[in-house]
Amino acid sequence: MNGLYGTYEWAARAPGRVNLIGEHTDYNDGFVMPCAIDRGIRVSARARDDSICRLYSHQFQSGWVFDLREVSKESGDSWARYPQGVAAMLQAHSGRLLSGIDAEIESDLPAASGLSSSAAFEAVFAVLWNEIDGLNLDRWTLAKLCQQAEHEYAGVKCGIMDQAASLLAQEGCALFLDTRSLQTTYDPLPKTWSLVVADTGKPRALSSSAYNERREQCEQAVRLLAGESEPHARALRDISPERFLERGVLMPPVIRQRAAHVLGENLRVAAFRDALQRGDKSLIGRLMRASHESLRLDYEVSCAELDSMQRACETAPGCVGARMTGAGFGGACVALVERAALNDFLAAAEAHYRADQPGCEPVFLACCPAQGAVVERL
Ligand code: ADP
Ligand code: MG
Repeated sequence: MNGLYGTYEWAARAPGRVNLIGEHTDYNDGFVMPCAIDRGIRVSARARDDSICRLYSHQFQSGWVFDLREVSKESGDSWARYPQGVAAMLQAHSGRLLSGIDAEIESDLPAASGLSSSAAFEAVFAVLWNEIDGLNLDRWTLAKLCQQAEHEYAGVKCGIMDQAASLLAQEGCALFLDTRSLQTTYDPLPKTWSLVVADTGKPRALSSSAYNERREQCEQAVRLLAGESEPHARALRDISPERFLERGVLMPPVIRQRAAHVLGENLRVAAFRDALQRGDKSLIGRLMRASHESLRLDYEVSCAELDSMQRACETAPGCVGARMTGAGFGGACVALVERAALNDFLAAAEAHYRADQPGCEPVFLACCPAQGAVVERL
């Protein structure tokens, strides 16, 4: 295949993801249930004989050149910090210098909309170098190295969910993930449902500082709830509902709210999986709404646009359930929708949202649950 940099020998693709339920639980050792979606980032590449990487992103209409011998964090907030971070982690883990590449990046995944384009961007380079350089690293190892790249090169202390979804998802399924044990199970979604990602048109604005603040509040909650009698409690995961009822009242209100969200959300993820296995649509809908309300009132990461969108989706024809998804303060809602009613759903949800939020330009993406990252030799 020919392109900007000549003839490519490799093509890799990694999907974005949408989280059905389990928000802000992953860095608390809790449960999440994401789906990879049939939108993602594609890289066409050829290996070079040296350690130079020349990259061009069509979505961002810009290029970047760096040398694998001197990968640095100096790329500021350029998109190049993601591939550089992945390269640095793979090199540190394998003790090898990777091959330089010439690569073109194409994407049909909106960036910064809560669909985790950053994880897809990391994952696509991880599988690419893993293959080109014959590193033979398994998917979990790649996911952890991508997560580390995001921590150290993008400054976002994310959990493992996004990278796991982009690298381990199976087509047609949601992924139930225990973020402590990394135990993973796959639950099929009914084939008659669509996954709708309903972007509010308000760019997600959860700065890394607000995100890191929530993390710290959760850590503080663990210290306060565990006390001396439960010294082994490492995360909110280890706090029982009884313990929370007993000691939660003694905590500062904000810390109590954060803990209430995380503890309740973990229970909702488990209940959601059961409801999915039993085909209990009504319970699925109630759990998604309860998750949204908890994120709005207790975790305080929603906003007017997300609340309008949640209502617009939930009241539209064919909706099984809807909630905000992703870290919050803008970005998107996710809705599960009966495919037979999809067109009516989209028309009604859009009209409702536009009437509520006339200043915003919403975008609706009807998606299918997709498989994780793939790489092939052309
Ligand atoms: P999200 O992960 O929710 O999409 P982030 O802010 O974590 O939002 O990641 C978005 C960033 O990922 C972009 O600002 C850019 O740096 C990088 N990125 C995503 N897609 C691409 C792309 N196609 N080309 C270059 N960089 C991209
Ligand atoms: Mg991201």
